[in-house]
Amino acid sequence: MNLSATQTVMPTRDDLSFQETNCGYSLTDAQLEADRCLQCKHQPCVTACPIHVPIPQFIKKIGENDLEAAYDIITSRSNFPNFCSRVCHVEHQCQGSCVRAIKGESVAINHLERFVSDHMSQKRLIKQASIDKKIAVIGSGPSGLACASDLAQLGYQVDIYEKEAYAGGIVSYGVPEYRLPHRWVYLEIEKIKELGVHFFYNSILGNNINLDVLKENYDAIYIAIGEEKMVPLNVPGENLPHVYNSFNYLKKVFENKIDDLLDFKKVIVIGGGNTAMDCARCAKRFGADVTIVYRRLYEDMPASASEIQEASKEGINFEFLASPVEIREDSIILTKREVISTDKQGRNKTVEIPNSNYSIEADAIILALGSKPDMRLRNKLGIQTDPKGRVLINDDYQTSISNIYSGGDMVRGADTVVRAIDAGKKAAKNIHEKILEPH
Ligand code: SF4
Repeated sequence: MNLSATQTVMPTRDDLSFQETNCGYSLTDAQLEADRCLQCKHQPCVTACPIHVPIPQFIKKIGENDLEAAYDIITSRSNFPNFCSRVCHVEHQCQGSCVRAIKGESVAINHLERFVSDHMSQKRLIKQASIDKKIAVIGSGPSGLACASDLAQLGYQVDIYEKEAYAGGIVSYGVPEYRLPHRWVYLEIEKIKELGVHFFYNSILGNNINLDVLKENYDAIYIAIGEEKMVPLNVPGENLPHVYNSFNYLKKVFENKIDDLLDFKKVIVIGGGNTAMDCARCAKRFGADVTIVYRRLYEDMPASASEIQEASKEGINFEFLASPVEIREDSIILTKREVISTDKQGRNKTVEIPNSNYSIEADAIILALGSKPDMRLRNKLGIQTDPKGRVLINDDYQTSISNIYSGGDMVRGADTVVRAIDAGKKAAKNIHEKILEPH
């Protein structure tokens, strides 16, 4: 048993490039870290994992140097461990409940999962005997991919409709290369294609693809297109050409359409989530002086602690207790805020301090304020939603229209990649059961 109170160090690069920052464990590192796991009988880490990956079991297999068995254990619950191990909010999930964290640092479950998936993700998926039923999946983000993969492995003919010219959704254009190298996303997509799944790109629901037509041609449909619109800031100057939303900014980075992004010297990012950190860290890599403006305090930021620390380490500035009131061509006007109380989640609640406006120089502003449903599209689809526009589903993931299922951010609002995968898997299971036993 390795009694060290601290995690085995993950080697990192510090050259501010787009190559992956974390370099991965060696076998020796991984086995050293695996040896810190107490193999707890009550398994609090498994309970805290949204998809209940059998964590101690796969860690044990690392110790035995049986990486294939470790991979099989992980993929019994998660289609894409190479995504989850890099983007999960582990401090709020498995690692946040790890017993080793009581007197030191948790076991580095994410690094161990990544070690296994990096070594085993080439393992191909196996298709069972063909079932003569067709399923359409709309949206090729993690939820759609998980649903399509599970159904294709069960033997269904699956077609995926994707609005972009490439697959992957948020794990393609939403997470920069230095955090999740795109080769892992391409690999998973290739594995799904090998199952016979067809991808139809530039297919926009409610535009050039019609739900009624799809209903006639498929036995079931799974819709997982996430939230379609960015939350606006609603201040004067928001529509100036040097103001980006996080979606557009990260998409330009992903598509390497970065000529204009390279010119910026002073970039302001508004927001406190992981997406704000992603935008800020990309801008930093393009050579800008970057400041994140957040209306509350450090401890209130929804971003992962590791992302905030990495951003800080890379020299990104933070302006807390401030919010924008106007954007100008060469600057942003902020107003100071003060804490007045705490909200239901225990986060500081703040209000503007009157007459406290000040200005910061800026030649680009990135708004990372989250996403929301496109109500016009949702109404057009004719699927029942709640007042916020979130699609209503029953326990079987079925929407108000028979044979149409939904999951992921469309149903829950913006949420984690692992929960999107979970929804896709559960919808696939329910679609399969419904088709096998229609009544
Ligand atoms: Fe291992 Fe931590 Fe899970 Fe216990 S809680 S089984 S120490 S990973």
